[in-house]
Amino acid sequence: MESYNSFTTAKRQISEAAKILNLDEATLQLLSEPQREFTFSLHVKMDNGKTKIFRGYRIQYNFARGPAKGGIRFHPDETIDTIRALACWMTWKTAVVDLPLGGGKGGIRCDPKTLSQRELENLSREYIRAAAPFIGVDKDIPAPDVYTNPQTMAWMMDEYETIVNNHQPGVLTDKPTQVGGTLGRRDATARGGVITVREACKNLGVDPLSKFAVQGFGNAGQRAALLHHEILGGGKLIAVSDSRGAIYNPEGFDSNELVTHKLKTGTVLGFPKSKQIAHEDLLELDVDILYPAALENAISKDNASRIKAKIICELANGPTTPEADIILNQKGIYVIPDILASAGGVTVSYFEMVQDKYSFFWDESTVNQRLDQKLTTAYSRVHEAIKEKKIHPRLAAMVVGVARVAEACKLRGWV
Ligand code: NAD
Repeated sequence: MESYNSFTTAKRQISEAAKILNLDEATLQLLSEPQREFTFSLHVKMDNGKTKIFRGYRIQYNFARGPAKGGIRFHPDETIDTIRALACWMTWKTAVVDLPLGGGKGGIRCDPKTLSQRELENLSREYIRAAAPFIGVDKDIPAPDVYTNPQTMAWMMDEYETIVNNHQPGVLTDKPTQVGGTLGRRDATARGGVITVREACKNLGVDPLSKFAVQGFGNAGQRAALLHHEILGGGKLIAVSDSRGAIYNPEGFDSNELVTHKLKTGTVLGFPKSKQIAHEDLLELDVDILYPAALENAISKDNASRIKAKIICELANGPTTPEADIILNQKGIYVIPDILASAGGVTVSYFEMVQDKYSFFWDESTVNQRLDQKLTTAYSRVHEAIKEKKIHPRLAAMVVGVARVAEACKLRGWV
């Protein structure tokens, strides 16, 4: 397996896009480093009465198009460079969907599985006490990421409001609806991805009713399976996987029943009329559409040459390594890159900020309709760039995002 510093990969992608766009050296330099980085020492009272120190980070990568936006991750392997890379990708993601936002990301180096609910709450509140001077509805709006969730956001929002002594629900997004969250957020990432698949099928002449597979049957993967049928009007789901294993049925699964089975048993394994297959075999099945919705680097130089899908919709962040990208591109496989395919989540987060600002909440069909409009427009702008510049989809999405941010920097007189 190849090993990476994600930020090095992210910077390489910026250089490639900058070359196509003929960006000058100062702009390239500005876009290749975060504008602001904060690191915090967090002291938390543990259940055993002792104090433990954690390291927290918040990175605001670029503000040219608006306040920074991006999740907060709790993870034992968190480093400043993983956060830099994620903040950098958020910058291009918000720009590709043309949101008036920049990119940011944060995290705490911790193992959330070993912490009690009370310790998690103490840690979340301590993070906000440290970050409060630097975040805000017009500065930087965090959201959940790996191992953080709407409950974490509710604690963090509460702590922030206590500090500023003001009602500020829009300071964090993906909150529960009872405290300023939006309808439609649960489906948003998958819905956005499936909308881009619908558009790609039209452009490439791929039959939307044909076979598809989902790697990673968690939140994004389950919703993608259900929405694929709803938005594309059919399709045959022939394989799915989770961390415990992969299952296959050439006749197709009933996605609703499969979701119920997964929620009941905690795994896709054991679903009636399914055959267990190896994890890696799922990615190489003869399907038209493949949704990687698990972890990074699932498609590497080791398996890329055996992938048969016509369209890969990257719901996961970074599921394809740079070497695999080259192979997929040579094979003519159309990869809808993560910064476009998984942008539905941040788009609906932005809708949540807007609703919180106005204290006026939309019904779910309005959220979904506006999401469709945003993602369809973004898809067609990226598709135009592919044709205009004769480049592969990931580079085209980067070119669209980087160009918009570079233009904003220029208009502000920064470069
Ligand atoms: P999740 O934890 O709900 O689901 C992940 C699933 O992947 C789980 O079912 C897990 O069992 C499975 N998995 C783990 N290792 C696997 C392996 N080796 N093979 C197959 N399956 C495996 O997470 P999620 O929220 O669905 O996010 C999935 C991906 O989508 C992540 O990369 C995340 O960063 C990305 N993403 C999610 C959102 C969102 O709104 N949920 C937004 C943007 C990007």
